[in-house]
Amino acid sequence: MRRTDDPIARRIREMVDRVHMLRDHNWYHYLRSSDELRGSRVVVGGREMLMFASYNYLGLLRHPRIDAAARAAVDEFGSGTHGVRLLAGTIRLHEELEAAISRFKGAEAAATYSSGYVTNLAAISALCGRHDVVLCDRLDHASIVDGCRLALAKFERFQHNDMEDLRRRLEAQEPGAGKLVVVDAVFSMDGDVANLPVLHDLCAEFGAWLMVDEAHSVGVLGETGHGIEEHYGMHGTVDIKMGTLSKAIPSVGGYIAGDRDLVCFLKHASRPFIFSASLPPAAAAAATEALAVIEDEPERVRTLHSNTRHFLKSLQGRGFDTLHSATPIVPILCGTEDRAWEMARLSQEEGIFVLPVVSPAVPDGTSRLRANVTAAHTLAEIDFAVDVFTRAAKQVGIL
Ligand SMILES: *Cc1c(COP(=O)(O)O)cnc(C)c1O
Repeated sequence: MRRTDDPIARRIREMVDRVHMLRDHNWYHYLRSSDELRGSRVVVGGREMLMFASYNYLGLLRHPRIDAAARAAVDEFGSGTHGVRLLAGTIRLHEELEAAISRFKGAEAAATYSSGYVTNLAAISALCGRHDVVLCDRLDHASIVDGCRLALAKFERFQHNDMEDLRRRLEAQEPGAGKLVVVDAVFSMDGDVANLPVLHDLCAEFGAWLMVDEAHSVGVLGETGHGIEEHYGMHGTVDIKMGTLSKAIPSVGGYIAGDRDLVCFLKHASRPFIFSASLPPAAAAAATEALAVIEDEPERVRTLHSNTRHFLKSLQGRGFDTLHSATPIVPILCGTEDRAWEMARLSQEEGIFVLPVVSPAVPDGTSRLRANVTAAHTLAEIDFAVDVFTRAAKQVGIL
């Protein structure tokens, strides 16, 4: 018999109680399943809504060329592989994908994994050992934090985008320690951009490796969507270029791109490459084709950039606090959790599918709607969403 104060049972109970509380208030916005995804539209519970919660930044989901590539891959290779990458699980499509990523990112080589999450765990834990240190931005993605926890190295977090704090911490390390600095290129909750020029200088000065997670940067930053190095005109300055194949690229998987030796090391030392199944053929082929489509249809990136400018300017014009966002990830600050949940509920009532983000994903008191704009939105759709957010905000007392 389990004791009534069993800590595992208590942990489960507390979460289930919280879910029930949210359901009771009509504030439960999670695990909503959609029946159809097309352009800027989503059908949820039989109702068509305007999608403002998607990572489909370039509107590539359902692109005919990408869907056709996925189908052709199934026809040729089937639905799965024969195992892990290092052993029998590598197929021609993985090699083609890694070549395409290397070209796209201007790197010598690339290694792919079955998700972006796993990629961060894989790379950080393989690269950093017991006497090393990993320094992360306080707002880095959970998969980076988990990678650092898995690594045996010392783990420190510097204040968000605070280059003075990073410098102090680099100065304080043992001279012999291996040093890895890891940041998001675009911070996934705030939508602001990492300070690559200073990061690069600091890493060079202290002999640290620089790893940048481009989950929200590939297809988004830079005039042609090649990411943060293009954005700053600083090609070849990021040592370890990490990205996902699940956001602007409408597939699944993650990658590390970098020099040949780094990639060779990861392919033989990072545990998910050795102990977890390879990407399925359809996912690999879709990602390869998506990279080609981004090159062939550069107007998508231009539209994304002009939509982003329009969305941010309109929200700020109405008096919303959008923090330092300069990207399609736009936080609409609400303050308390209740306000964020209620804002989401009111917006959805008017046909905007947008989701709240609350603690622990963001600091207490900075609960927000996180609205994502894409190249698939028209200006009229963006204007409509801004009107809806404004009405909701007045009702909730934010404006
Ligand atoms: C989404 C995301 C990941 C994880 O990628 P998946 O492909 O969804 O596993 C990693 N890092 C950041 C910054 C992300 O936003």
